[in-house]
Amino acid sequence: MTESLDTIIVGAGPAGISAAVFLKRAGIKFKIFERKRTGGLLHNAHLVENYPGFDGLPGKKLVEEMEGQLARWDIEVEMAEVTDIERNDVGFRVRLEDPEPKELDARTVIIATGTIPLKLDLDGSDIIEGKHLFYEIADLPDNISGKEVVVIGGGDAAFDYALNLSEKGASVRIAMRSDKPRCLPLLYERAENDPSIQIYQDCNPASFEMHGGRLVIKCPHMQIKADIVLVAIGRRPSDELIVPLQRDTGANALPGLYIAGDVQQGSYRQMGIAVGDGIKAAMGIMKFLESISDNQEDII
Ligand SMILES: Cc1cc2nc3c(=O)[nH]c(=O)nc-3n(C[C@H](O)[C@H](O)[C@H](O)COP(=O)(O)OP(=O)(O)OC[C@H]3O[C@@H](n4cnc5c(N)ncnc54)[C@H](O)[C@@H]3O)c2cc1C
Repeated sequence: MTESLDTIIVGAGPAGISAAVFLKRAGIKFKIFERKRTGGLLHNAHLVENYPGFDGLPGKKLVEEMEGQLARWDIEVEMAEVTDIERNDVGFRVRLEDPEPKELDARTVIIATGTIPLKLDLDGSDIIEGKHLFYEIADLPDNISGKEVVVIGGGDAAFDYALNLSEKGASVRIAMRSDKPRCLPLLYERAENDPSIQIYQDCNPASFEMHGGRLVIKCPHMQIKADIVLVAIGRRPSDELIVPLQRDTGANALPGLYIAGDVQQGSYRQMGIAVGDGIKAAMGIMKFLESISDNQEDII
């Protein structure tokens, strides 16, 4: 028989975690699934300076605090990928893969799946991805001290990555497509004043080649040699589970479906907003479940 729950949370980033803690305290029966790593994108943040009460804490440290909180509340994040969600009589049927296929039913779901990186579609990029080319700093090999790293991008994430890499002892070059950075002036200034970071403007990579075990990034006016390239050219919503649900039912707001965090925030992608969203979804679920049980009592 398919197991039935009050709620299933998909994604254990800040949005999913805040929802989980709230639901646990409210005594609601749920499971939370994560396909990659608990803490989500926050693993990549160099220093979080805009979350009240934590001034300048590395993202990884904040994740440790969150993991401690999950453990204290006896919340287990189950490592599995949710591959499909559809409507059924209970509310939703949720399918999981990895480590093994499984189905669960829940009266409500929270989709807190965050974002995925925009990929570079350049000659050679598919061959080096995962070896020399990465899209998140959290995926890089542990010891990058002394390595030459090129960060491609001109936004907050690219500059945050560069500062983080420099602190880890890497020699960093930022390749920006235009001559105008899109990052916070404060991040640009820090990178400009960091002797381990060089900033190249009007540098739009056209292809990657390997020469003698080293990566050569070819731009129209120059070539840059590197050990690793880290690409931060933007992200898009990880909405693969939401789109079919809304398409199949033709509804934008399905009763019992809650969407929280970066996956629905457009350009307003910040941890504080994701946390608030997770709490709002959990509160919505409490009210929704109460309204269902009130209706059932009326029928009796
Ligand atoms: C370099 C960098 C620096 C940043 N610095 C700051 C900062 O200083 N301050 C700040 O407020 N914010 C910062 N952010 C943004 C912050 O990290 C995000 O806003 C926040 O992590 C969003 O939380 P979320 O839970 O919505 O999504 P995410 O953190 O992306 O978490 C979503 C989770 O869902 C999982 N998932 C996705 N699909 C599935 C599936 N099908 N099945 C199971 N699991 C799934 C993913 O693996 C992921 O772990 C930074 C981001 C980056 C990249």
